[in-house]
Amino acid sequence: MSLFRKKKVMPNGLWISCKGCKGVIYKKILEKKSNVCPECDYHFRINGKERLNLMLDDNTFQEYWASMSSADPLNFTDRIPYKERISSEQKKCGMLSACIAGKGGINGKEVIICVTDPVFVMGSMGSVVGEKVTRSVETAMKMDLPLVIVTGSGGGARMQEGSISLMQMAKTSAAIARFQEAGGLYIVILTDPTLGGVMASFASQADIIIAEPGALIGFAGPRVIEQTIKKSLPPGFQTAEFLLEHGFVDMIVDRNDLKSTVHKLMTMLCDDRKEADKLEHKDNKGVETVYPSSSMKKELVASFDQN
Ligand SMILES: [Zn+2]
Repeated sequence: MSLFRKKKVMPNGLWISCKGCKGVIYKKILEKKSNVCPECDYHFRINGKERLNLMLDDNTFQEYWASMSSADPLNFTDRIPYKERISSEQKKCGMLSACIAGKGGINGKEVIICVTDPVFVMGSMGSVVGEKVTRSVETAMKMDLPLVIVTGSGGGARMQEGSISLMQMAKTSAAIARFQEAGGLYIVILTDPTLGGVMASFASQADIIIAEPGALIGFAGPRVIEQTIKKSLPPGFQTAEFLLEHGFVDMIVDRNDLKSTVHKLMTMLCDDRKEADKLEHKDNKGVETVYPSSSMKKELVASFDQN
């Protein structure tokens, strides 16, 4: 027997190692399963374009505001100048900003959809992301369509744009409040990771909050919190499952069931909305209620669990 075992050589790019079960998966099989591990259900991160393909009917996506690109108002330099960072991200991702927005069809139902891409400067929210989210909300309101936002944002507010980034939290939140006040339906899908200023604004304000299994969701990352409070955190802290248990997330949905779930929710909540408006906006004591009411949401989620 030879003293040194020959190292197995695997052809580059055909196989991928799973972070969940540590197994090795054939890439083509993984792609067929929408980048969900067939062994352990680990949800790999996907980019914005892949996300849109997964959520929307073929050839229905009409992109809005594609030419918007970040300015560099502070002339900011960290490791590299911000302008250089943006242009290298644009080349890497083949898009001009961390957000894709537009109109598309979900099993034949029209929606305004907005996706933050975890690959482009970690999906962080600068002026362009904030503006596109706000315009999406306003367009959904104008066209009387449901709004679906998929978040993949590890960076929160983008520090390179300073307070202009922070202002986007207030701007997006105000637009969403107006939309909801007018009776619009907003569904958010939180994917791994959704953190910082994105989570502290539009990602946490939807009528229905869906999360992908295992997604890291929170404000500051767990390591930062541990260092600050000098205590260890409970197991599973800031995962989608932990947040479901504590009432922050309404439902956890496997990536391959997201499209049908969103379609079902839109059918239940939008088609009968006019009727529901009459019933739900005033309860029998004449008190204004929010639509969908929390009891209605509980019934909805329970109906999914039974199916
Ligand atoms: Zn796995």
